[in-house]
Amino acid sequence: MLDFVVIFTKGGIVLWCKNFSGQNYSECVNDLIRIVILEGRSSDSKYFERSDLAVQYKLDNELELISLIIYQKVVNLPYADKILCDMQTAFKCKFEEKLLSPVLRFRLDFDFDKEFLSMLLSAEKNKSKSAPKQMRSFNESLKSKKTVASMFEESERSSKPKQVNIQSILEHNVERTGELSNEKIMMENRKKMKEKLLGKKCTTEQKRSVISDKAGKKPRIWELEGSTKDAVTLDRSKNQEENVNLQKIESYIVGTMQGSIPDIEVVADDKENDNEVDNHNINKENRKISGILSYFKGVVGAKTLTKLDLQEILDKMRDHLIAKNVATDIAFKLCDSVAESLEGKSIGTFDSIATVIKSALTVSLLRILSPKRRIDVIRDALEAKKNNKPYTIIFCGVNGVGKSTNLAKICFWLVENDFSVLIAACDTFRAGAVEQLRTHTRHLNALHPPQNHNNRTMVQLYEKGYGKDAAGIAMEAIKYASDTNVDIVLVDTAGRMQDNEPLMRSLSKLITVNDPDLVLFVGEALVGNEAVDQLVKFNQSLADYSSNDNPHIIDGIVLTKFDTIDDKVGAAISMTYITGQPIVFVGTGQTYTDLKAINVNAVVNSLMK
Ligand code: GDP
Repeated sequence: MLDFVVIFTKGGIVLWCKNFSGQNYSECVNDLIRIVILEGRSSDSKYFERSDLAVQYKLDNELELISLIIYQKVVNLPYADKILCDMQTAFKCKFEEKLLSPVLRFRLDFDFDKEFLSMLLSAEKNKSKSAPKQMRSFNESLKSKKTVASMFEESERSSKPKQVNIQSILEHNVERTGELSNEKIMMENRKKMKEKLLGKKCTTEQKRSVISDKAGKKPRIWELEGSTKDAVTLDRSKNQEENVNLQKIESYIVGTMQGSIPDIEVVADDKENDNEVDNHNINKENRKISGILSYFKGVVGAKTLTKLDLQEILDKMRDHLIAKNVATDIAFKLCDSVAESLEGKSIGTFDSIATVIKSALTVSLLRILSPKRRIDVIRDALEAKKNNKPYTIIFCGVNGVGKSTNLAKICFWLVENDFSVLIAACDTFRAGAVEQLRTHTRHLNALHPPQNHNNRTMVQLYEKGYGKDAAGIAMEAIKYASDTNVDIVLVDTAGRMQDNEPLMRSLSKLITVNDPDLVLFVGEALVGNEAVDQLVKFNQSLADYSSNDNPHIIDGIVLTKFDTIDDKVGAAISMTYITGQPIVFVGTGQTYTDLKAINVNAVVNSLMK
């Protein structure tokens, strides 16, 4: 079974490749580049071994192509020569015009998967046919039924020079492929290979999982103990009847959020069972090929990168970032900065190119996401407490992004860390906003009753109903907290659109007159360009409408609904790029414990996939 196949130019440009095992073969290819490019010039098939691997390659001096296959040395691959030869011929046949054009040749969009997989399937089938069988007696054989004349005809035919007709190879292979999908074929082949290597040492678990595979996917069973996912959701704005006895259901979460908030995990690795190794490898391959670095596979070998070399790759990279929800403008700027940093750089080998490009991009993304200053709410709140001042946080953002919900989660985390909290209900606009906070307050106190905290009521609500001046309510709340030794004040504000001037003015006033310790912008992870527009305008309004010479603008970001975006994590980049401010909290669901800290590396990894 093949592990890796590649066709590249003598200049080191990878035109097409297929990795069946998910391993990295760059060292092998590097060796080959050294041997073939620097030493060999023959057009015959060549073979060399490198630890457990067998490497076979073939040169085409006319088009200056190198075709190469890699497989495990232990595997007897009788069709290696043939597949190498057929692959090169088929590739040349299909792309001859393109390969001869100095411009088209470097477009690197050589779609050869289908043809190659058909060829491979056919070779695999023929191999199993040609496997040694039990000897037949002469009388049983077809030869015994042949006439002498027919034997002469046969030998004449076989002495004719063999002509490789690519169309016939492909048609033949497609016919053989039948209805099987390429993926299925690969899976079957890898399964056979694994069985062979394991000497049929199939464990009971593996057998069982084969049976369960056949029986179809089992319904998911949620773990109750320790799982936060089963906890009743925090959407308290709807049916309040549901909240009866919630504390009984959720009491297991008490004590789970002590200390600093755990880091977010982005796109966890698939956990396949042992019997799905083949599947896993193929998935891995697909992920790899569809990943951002697949755009870079086309540049290998020693050369100095020019703007032209990078142009096409960067165009694709920009599209990739935009598809991951990075705002368009920011994706452009990011790619320009990567181009600048790479232009003129000397690239050594197959290995180093991918590494150089990857690290340039990674460095840019890490730089953007790494905050210039760290916001440590617990440390700052303790400091304020020492000075007998309540630590105040104001939450702002557009409607429905999760301000109240995430305020409640943050409140839970603070109470877990033994801070008493006053929630100031300053959304005096939206019907139900105050009731929503009241429900949270009741619920949080049920989870953390006074008897567990030296008879302190850990969460209080400061409310003045609807239609009143929000800035005034916040001021009264802070004063109340100060008078009654409440540690922290969390101010909920009405959602507002970034273009609504009167509402933006009133937010600016609320912040100016109350001078909070922290202004947090709450934004959804779902948005791309919209997030940038919201943030730019919120910041602008806070600066423009403030009566203060040194206006207090946004200090940090709460990125909500992170659980709904899969790997489209671009909003994190856009928001931090535009403000230069850190993501302080990440909302990852609808329970009190679904609050995380940003993990810069995980976000960058996810963007690069
Ligand atoms: P507000 O208008 O900004 O105060 O938004 P709410 O706090 O009322 O939240 C709006 C909706 O978003 C509610 O249904 C919340 O349960 C939901 N929500 C808030 N944060 C998250 C989160 O991190 N993940 C998910 N999946 N939903 C969230």
